[in-house]
Amino acid sequence: MTTLTHLECSLCGQAYDAARPQRLCTTCARPLLARYDLARAGATLTLAAARARPAGFAAYAEVMPFTRPHVDLGEGRTPLVRAARLDAGLGGAEAWVKDESLNPTGSFKARGLAAAIGRARELGVTRVALPTAGNAGLALAAYAAAAGLEALVVCPADTPHPFVTGARLLGAEVVLHDGLIDACGRVVAERAAREGWFDCSTLKEPYRAEGKKTMGYDLVRDLGEVPDVVVYPTGGGTGIVGMAKAFDEMEALGWIGARRPRMVSVQAAGCAPIVRAFEGGADEAAPWADAHTAASGLRVPRAVGDRLILAALRASSGTALAVTDAEMVRGAAALGAGAGVLAAPEGGACWAAAERLAAAGWIRPGERVVLFNTGSALSYIDAY
Ligand SMILES: *Cc1c(COP(=O)(O)O)cnc(C)c1O
Repeated sequence: MTTLTHLECSLCGQAYDAARPQRLCTTCARPLLARYDLARAGATLTLAAARARPAGFAAYAEVMPFTRPHVDLGEGRTPLVRAARLDAGLGGAEAWVKDESLNPTGSFKARGLAAAIGRARELGVTRVALPTAGNAGLALAAYAAAAGLEALVVCPADTPHPFVTGARLLGAEVVLHDGLIDACGRVVAERAAREGWFDCSTLKEPYRAEGKKTMGYDLVRDLGEVPDVVVYPTGGGTGIVGMAKAFDEMEALGWIGARRPRMVSVQAAGCAPIVRAFEGGADEAAPWADAHTAASGLRVPRAVGDRLILAALRASSGTALAVTDAEMVRGAAALGAGAGVLAAPEGGACWAAAERLAAAGWIRPGERVVLFNTGSALSYIDAY
């Protein structure tokens, strides 16, 4: 059912064979994106057809990369909660929460890794690895286990123990490293070169973004149109990049017009490279020194997809802002007590950001605002 045609460098446009495992562009070291025959896909993949199919990746099969049924643990069947009790806090805008904590392993990382590992298995990969601040390691371990692949997870030594214990329970080799996620990435790269692991780091292979893009498809499948604003906690940026790609594809498929949701990147005050670059008018984000935040998913000092993230924010008339860890905790409490959503600090960050944007008049009364709760509070219970 897939209409996958090839992979394409997001910067220089060079084409790559999708029938082999690929990583970054070999010329400019930028992410590769999957391309489809959207004219052919659109013949069967109408919005009405997607709405008639059961939820999950299979609803969008024509624009997913799989040639066979992928390893499905139930990812992507998450609710878009209408959180009307939160409207007042947004100055009369409509608050919606896409609760990604209800994915397998408790975060939206399940979407990305389901796609990356499903596809890696099709292409003959047998060992997968990544550096992680927590949720990606759990998801990698789960999908590798289900697919019968070996998994290696390298994480900072202070990673919350539910992630470490969970990944071990799921059968992965877990290495604790004395450094941040970029240093863990170097450990993965060394072991990959030496021992033949396939590196599934964020945007360093093309299919995690394909899994994450389904969040954008879900919004339109659920609402029938794009919302006005999407507030998203940004670390490596796969979600922003994936959703922006989804909106472009949906326009080509005839599901939506040229209007886009205004995309908001929320980062932590202690690690905000995208916010700094956005405010400075830069096309690329310089690495952030001494990154610190309890929101481990946002502790990404350097994003390989920085250009794509910044371009998506600007093209959608979006914005970027940073919130403190204390604001995230208050935000998680607001989502909890106000909407019944058990939110990770990253989800709480979205509430704090949206509240500030509404107070500033950037979010207006009556607008539909989707906040992403990307992970479960339970994995961070000690940090709370
Ligand atoms: C990884 C992660 C993020 C950041 O996601 P990106 O799409 O890589 O920007 C946000 N929240 C949680 C809970 C995460 O695990």
